[in-house]
Amino acid sequence: MRDKLVVSKPIYELVRQLKNAGYIAYIVGGAIRDLMLGREPKDYDISTSATPEEIRAVFGRRNARIIGKRFQLVHVRMGPDIIEISTFRRSPESTGQIPGKARPRPVPENMIFRDNDFGTAEEDAWRRDFTVNALFYDPVNDDLLDYTGCGIDDMHAGIVRSIGEPGLRFEEDPVRVLRALKLVGQYGFTLDPATEAAVRTSGSLIEHTPASRFSLEIEKILKSAYCDGILNAFHDCDFLQYCLPYLELNWNSPPRAYAMQLLAERGRRILEGRYRSSISLAMAVIALPFIEAEIGFGQHGRLWTKNYAALTAIRRIIKEVFQPHNMIKRLAVSAQSILSLQPDFFNPDKKRDKLLHSHGYEHAREMLMLQNAVLWQDERLIAKWPKPLEAGKHPRPTRRKRRRPKPQPRLRPDTAYPAEH
Ligand code: ATP
Ligand code: MG
Repeated sequence: MRDKLVVSKPIYELVRQLKNAGYIAYIVGGAIRDLMLGREPKDYDISTSATPEEIRAVFGRRNARIIGKRFQLVHVRMGPDIIEISTFRRSPESTGQIPGKARPRPVPENMIFRDNDFGTAEEDAWRRDFTVNALFYDPVNDDLLDYTGCGIDDMHAGIVRSIGEPGLRFEEDPVRVLRALKLVGQYGFTLDPATEAAVRTSGSLIEHTPASRFSLEIEKILKSAYCDGILNAFHDCDFLQYCLPYLELNWNSPPRAYAMQLLAERGRRILEGRYRSSISLAMAVIALPFIEAEIGFGQHGRLWTKNYAALTAIRRIIKEVFQPHNMIKRLAVSAQSILSLQPDFFNPDKKRDKLLHSHGYEHAREMLMLQNAVLWQDERLIAKWPKPLEAGKHPRPTRRKRRRPKPQPRLRPDTAYPAEH
């Protein structure tokens, strides 16, 4: 006997509407894992027998948008949330080539390029990557379906097991190697022996993944509260060398160890709701110890002297650490700004109010707080550098009065700083 899985109201409503319209609909993917493990789902994936056009007809053209080429998905607006709905698919035959397109380098013959043939719920379960990812849940009838027959047991035992022959499944789509290790890092799961053997031999296939998709996966990992655990799992299975080669190369160095401590603290604070998850902050956290080692005093927490050379070095180190990924420029710029502001927190010549109201204060302050939690444990720093909302109560630095002041749009507190993911 299992407990009823408690899903959010809009999701329940969405499944109910699809079912009322005569379709089959289930919650799938990460949300089921989280619900079964007593965690708060970060988002929900829905799978249904309705085609993208039929989904649009159920929710109205204004609320539902078809997106994607490789997979056609529908984004449905439910109040403030956007929920992703996919149609059941069957496993495609791997064609090994993209019609009409020249291939720059040879790819494994089983790699999948097309994955859009609609199918039944059962076929859809079998095309998924791991048994724990192939569970389907109908919240209206409280039905949990386990078509592979191993999903529920593997979930309870914490085992990542490939559906089908793991080597072949990784060849079809090498991102599955990364996804397997994400489950290890995120939940503390272990790989079943056959899956682990294939993970260890298939890692290099990831180089055949289009750069944009690979970089997007890395961004998702950086955004995760479990980023430290995931990077550890990558290293343990010899996969980090393909994702962040700089970090792998420096794995046994003190800066790497300190970066992981900072990342772990960041994860804790995200899970406790004390700070939002931010890709650029994660980038800054990973790069900071290497910057200290190169341009600082070589000691954690001593920071560096702010000057033009330091700024250039920050830019270069960020680039090196996140090679070969073409991270979105905005993220790299935001990470640079977080890092370059750090010495300002200790510079007596800097005007405190100016820093409090500077663009990027929020993330830069969080970086400072992470260092404080791990290293300094200085209560005065917390008092001196309040959260932006509290900072908002401080008088702004006086500006020269304009002759005819233009009306300024009022920024809500949550939009006063550049929104990230
Ligand atoms: P997260 O919590 O990170 O969203 P997730 O498992 O839900 O984890 P998604 O990328 O949202 O990951 O994918 C939803 C589901 O789609 C997965 O649980 C899995 O069943 C299936 N899936 C995703 N990517 C693949 C893939 N490359 N190969 C096979 N199945 C996949
Ligand atoms: Mg998901």
